Formats: sequence, C-alpha cells, structure tokens
Amino acid sequence: MTDASERLAAVQAGLYRACRDAGRSDRPLLVAVSKTFAAEDIRPLIAAGQRHFGENRVQEAQGKWPALIAETAADSGGIVLHLVGQLQSNKAAEAVALFDVIHSVDRPSLVTALAKAQTALSKRPACYLQVNIGDEAQKGGCALADLPALLTQAREATLDITGLMCVPPADLEPAPYFALLAEHARRLGLPGLSMGMSSDHQTAALLGATVVRVGSALFGSRG
Ligand SMILES: *Cc1c(COP(=O)(O)O)cnc(C)c1O
Repeated sequence: MTDASERLAAVQAGLYRACRDAGRSDRPLLVAVSKTFAAEDIRPLIAAGQRHFGENRVQEAQGKWPALIAETAADSGGIVLHLVGQLQSNKAAEAVALFDVIHSVDRPSLVTALAKAQTALSKRPACYLQVNIGDEAQKGGCALADLPALLTQAREATLDITGLMCVPPADLEPAPYFALLAEHARRLGLPGLSMGMSSDHQTAALLGATVVRVGSALFGSRG
C-alpha cells in the first residue's frame, strides 16, 4: 500500500468508528483538502479512489485541477471539486466555472455575485453558508444573527444552499461549536453540515457532520 492509501484508510476508519459510536448508520463525505500540495502529491490519493477534493484559493486550483480532472475523467467517477476558502466577489465567476461545491458563502454581496455567475455560466454549484461560529473578528463567515436573512436572500437568488459550514476557533474545544452549528442547521431545515478538519473530524462526525474537510491527515504537514 502507498502512504496515501494508508492515510486514506486510516481517516475513513476513524470516521467509521465515530459514526458507529454515535449510532449513525451513514458516514460523512470525506473531502481531501489539497491546498499547497502539487499534482504529484494528489495523484496517489486519486489512484487510491478519493474523488472529492478541496482547495481554498481559486487561482491555485485553476493552476492544478483542470489537468488532474482531465486525466481522471476516463476513470470510474469524475473529480468533485470543493472550494473551502474565502471567496472574493470578483472571483465568483471563476469559482462557479471550476468548482462543484462552494463552502464559503458568507455575505450578501457574494450571494449576488454567485447568482449572476451561475446564470451566466448555466451552472449551479451546491453551496454552504459559512458561519463565523466563534464570533471571531478576523474570520470569514456570517454572524449567527445574520444567518436567516442570508439564507432567504440566497434562496431568492436561486443558489442551491445545502447546509452550513464552520471553522471553530483554533485552540478551543471544538465540540460545543459543532453542536451549535448542527442546532442552527436543524432549525433552518438545512441537511448539510460541513465541519471537521484533520484534528477534529471524528468529533465532527460524532456531532452529525455530513462533510468533513481533511488536509494534513491525508497529505502530511503543510510545513
Ligand atoms: C486547510 C483547511 C482545511 C483542512 O485543514 P487540515 O487541518 O489540514 O485538515 C479544512 N477546511 C478549511 C476551510 C481549510 O482552510
């Protein structure tokens, strides 16, 4: 087995255990976050069967994914590309063109830009509303208080909003934040929960994550 397939199997096994412990019969979708890693680091994971990948910058993704998508197309099942990082409104069209799922919809101006882009490109990516769950000054994400209005606007703009996404504050116990996000998704009737990274994806799975975004546990340290 290659390193990549061993790491993939270990992460999947951890998710399986967490779901079993939580009495869940389903498992979260694993998105492999490949930001900063080159095509040659990504290919072994594709070879091991991984199909969902995440990037946090549009420009970086444009540099490496079109070729990887093209060379994987003949294989069983194509690549599904997720944007997990903050998105500037002036990059909305490029993001809609390349990504299948956008996890970082967090403000009215971005909703407007994405709506325009999806009409122009006749493409409708699945979207998550990113919530600034720890109410941190520097962080992207919509304030909890603004979430219902953002959801209403996004639906009126015909964005395909499937759930909520968060990145809890670093160095704090993430479980209460995951539980809070899950509670808000439940109240809003949104089925998707994008939460959990390398250090806390099992906790997120226990608390109902439907998507986990895992980078370093699959690719190694970003240095
Ligand atoms: C980088 C990143 C991840 C993955 O982080 P790891 O700690 O390497 O697993 C997940 N989500 C977002 C939004 C990220 O920027």
